[in-house]
Amino acid sequence: MGDQSFNAFKMAQAQFDAIAEKLGLDHATRDLLRNPDKEFHFNIPIKMDDGTYKVFRGFRCQHNDARGPSKGGIRFHPQETIDTVRALSMWMTWKTAVVDIPLGGGKGGVICDPHNLSLNEQEKICRGWVRQVYKNIGPLQDVPAPDVMTTAQHMIWMMDEYEVLAGAKYPGVITGKPVGIGGSLGRVEATGYGVIFTLREALKEEDVDIKNTSASFQGFGNVAQNAMKLYHLLGGHIIAVSSWNNSEQKAYTIRKEDGIDINKLLMFTNKFGEIDIEEAKSHAYEVLDADAWMKQDVDILIPAALENQINAKTVGLISDKVKFIVEGANGPTTPEADEVLKEKGVLVIPDFLANAGGVTCSYFEQVQTNINYYWTKEEVLEKLDETTTSAYHKISTLARKKKLYMRDAAYLISIQSVAEACKLRGWV
Ligand code: NAD
Repeated sequence: MGDQSFNAFKMAQAQFDAIAEKLGLDHATRDLLRNPDKEFHFNIPIKMDDGTYKVFRGFRCQHNDARGPSKGGIRFHPQETIDTVRALSMWMTWKTAVVDIPLGGGKGGVICDPHNLSLNEQEKICRGWVRQVYKNIGPLQDVPAPDVMTTAQHMIWMMDEYEVLAGAKYPGVITGKPVGIGGSLGRVEATGYGVIFTLREALKEEDVDIKNTSASFQGFGNVAQNAMKLYHLLGGHIIAVSSWNNSEQKAYTIRKEDGIDINKLLMFTNKFGEIDIEEAKSHAYEVLDADAWMKQDVDILIPAALENQINAKTVGLISDKVKFIVEGANGPTTPEADEVLKEKGVLVIPDFLANAGGVTCSYFEQVQTNINYYWTKEEVLEKLDETTTSAYHKISTLARKKKLYMRDAAYLISIQSVAEACKLRGWV
């Protein structure tokens, strides 16, 4: 979002076009799948705490629902754009298909910065967002979830507003709810754990012992923190991590060659995943520039912050020692950078497989909501492991058999399955 010249939607369409060509999809199917089915743009007027009025811009895109109701997060970000939301909704369609859950793809957003908004103002934005799309979302239409800078609290406000408007209980309208009010145990861990389940399988296939590996992360939010926890639990060594410093409006990387202790780091990290740089210095961390996370001599890079981070300009910064990149974030690698990484033989586990743990657990939340019976955290994470591992091997097997880059193999499987669903329904 930061780089004005980068357009996530153009990138998502370019990725789709290349695979559509490989699959020999007909013109109508390409036309259908390269754009969202529906999109909503709307104003959310709010009375601020100081008595002034402010209008926020909100979006919802439903890319495709041939395989089931649209599913995807709502992001709060000051640089949110409709094209980012479009791209992310398309990636959600491929993501739900790649892990073979009966859902489609959607995404939403609001141009706002929760750092500068009181909880009261955030609640009004959540309720205003729901009022604008009330008729177009729902358990059988489109089910939102948390994403960048939105939390379980935001989801419960949204669910409550929906229920007020509907005059009945609809816990299935949203996922990522707090545990005890319809949420699933394991949702907090799900995306980060899913990232590491795919990494674990890739390392096994390459005959690499995770205990002999080191990793560097971009971002220290929900995805990165939980990925780090499991990676550490499995014996991996975390050397560096970067995060956004809001007061200086720039990112920093912090490094500790002998390994980062996540629990200690959490003690001086705020709820937005922002590491306090002064505290980091006082705890003997080296403080480096924003890009330093990807310059490290590690085996594994895990971008888990934003899109467009490994691009034509930055891919050259990556050390030759790096053999695995696991995309925790959505769209962190551009097609130009993919070409360089392919050439270098780096195994890139693509975003819509690597970070599908969140939506898979959201699906588990829907299942539990529907049967009105909730599983233990162990049961949820076990089911998540099974689904993720099975999806990983389906893609890896195709990639190995046809000598494909893993992203291309994942796209082939998911686009084919969505195209087939559209055909079976007689849409194209
Ligand atoms: P989050 O808001 O919890 O954390 C984001 C982190 O990135 C924070 O630590 C922030 O400081 C850091 N950051 C922001 N800008 C940065 C920059 N320029 N350089 C370095 N660090 C920066 O977000 P999250 O939920 O962890 O999501 C991270 C990524 O994963 C996003 O791309 C999101 O779309 C994707 N994702 C999240 C989920 C989920 O379940 N949370 C699921 C799938 C994909």
